[in-house]
Amino acid sequence: MQLSKTNFIQYLHCPESLWLLKNKKEDYPKGEFSLFLEKLIKEGYEVEAYAQELFPNGIKLSSFITPQETLKALKDNGCYYFQPSFVTEKGAYAIIDILKRNNDDTWHIYEVKSSSSIKTDKKHNHLKDACFQKYVMTECGYNISQVSIIHLNKEYVKQGDIVPCELLEIVDVTHEVNNLYSATVNQINASLNFIKTDINLTRCSCIEKTRSNHCDAFRYFNPQIQEHSIYELNRISAKKLEDLRGLGVLGIKDIPNNFNLSDKQQLQVLSIIKEEPIIDRQAIKEELSKLKFPLHFIDYETYPTAVPKLDGMSPHQHVTFQVSIHTLSSDSKLNHYEFLSDTLELPTKLLEFIEETTGKTGTFISWYAPFETGRNKEMMQQFPEHKSYLEYINQHMFDLETIFHTNYVDYRFLGKTSIKNVLPILEPKFSYKNLEIQNGTMALDIWGRLVLQPETFQDVETAKNNLLEYCKLDTLAMVKIYKKLIQL
Ligand code: SF4
Repeated sequence: MQLSKTNFIQYLHCPESLWLLKNKKEDYPKGEFSLFLEKLIKEGYEVEAYAQELFPNGIKLSSFITPQETLKALKDNGCYYFQPSFVTEKGAYAIIDILKRNNDDTWHIYEVKSSSSIKTDKKHNHLKDACFQKYVMTECGYNISQVSIIHLNKEYVKQGDIVPCELLEIVDVTHEVNNLYSATVNQINASLNFIKTDINLTRCSCIEKTRSNHCDAFRYFNPQIQEHSIYELNRISAKKLEDLRGLGVLGIKDIPNNFNLSDKQQLQVLSIIKEEPIIDRQAIKEELSKLKFPLHFIDYETYPTAVPKLDGMSPHQHVTFQVSIHTLSSDSKLNHYEFLSDTLELPTKLLEFIEETTGKTGTFISWYAPFETGRNKEMMQQFPEHKSYLEYINQHMFDLETIFHTNYVDYRFLGKTSIKNVLPILEPKFSYKNLEIQNGTMALDIWGRLVLQPETFQDVETAKNNLLEYCKLDTLAMVKIYKKLIQL
């Protein structure tokens, strides 16, 4: 059984999930973000291709070259090699992004990252990644004298062709890697032993942790935890989860009356016991009375790219490619407006479209407003001529999701307030289930392929219509929810 660098980082985050992946692949959940991961992987290849341009005389090894063939191929001093692979006797496996053979027979490892900084958090620890690569090569008998990380330069602004030496930064991390090395080697050895552990793991430690820590394998390891469990309680602490489990309580409705809970948590308990929503009608009325007509229910779809694709853009900036607006006037007339870019372009036309459609009128309403206001701030920098309009939108933006934080609590939302959890409960006739596009990740994937690889679609018009339908439902859903709220 082999252990890659990605496996090792997964082990550091959660040994049990790696064990499941290695030992019971058929039970390993596919994960809702697989499309997003695919996009990240493609972007990684793109950044790597630019990194290779930093070393014009580098030798590209065959993608499928084996560690034995690698050994024969790495014969020239002073040379850079791309993608050589190595495997240790215990099964630790590494593909080195760029490797230099120094004149003194030592080696310099370059790790390429599509982030715009060196990350050292639990899920992405680039220094431990680099330690892993060094470990594998050291175990295979190579003397590593230097380790560097190449990552995107967040200050880079594309103008014309991409300039690799400006797009990328090379950071020498030899010292940091050496400091972490022996402790990381112990962890690598522990992970190699753990994945070969001949026990049937049926529990995992997230039973003790809050929901934000859980991965898709939580249900596999903890089948006793069903819907409406204590993990759905808003901001429940690990200590309180432990206390409840100590009392033998796993379901929200079994929580004893005298157990200390926050106001929001108490509302959740009340909702499940009464099997009905708990609504603060007065507070909702007051909030909604502040909105000024016309009400513009607005939603953007965006396409973020690691390597900027358009002049004026920096790494990881979003291209806003689509907008849907439902405008509700004070006489209850509802109009729908939509715009979908059909080429990869700065959102000049999109912005002109919104400004012509709404002007500086009324209130803008979105769901999780920091997303829309964040894009508006980016566009203010790109298009100073629209700054005053975009500032108007941000200053007159109301986040409809906030109503569901405390003023409208329903146990059927399962402790979440995303529009996809709220809509089917308030308006069962409306659902995303029948749409071809189910979420924002699918939307950006489809649009990205439509503009960059249209040949992958048999029917481009249908794909465009699917995008329009998806974004339209996002804003129509807000209108439906708003109308329910004002009738309370
Ligand atoms: S739920 Fe938590 S402990 Fe369990 S496998 Fe997932 S990340 Fe690991």
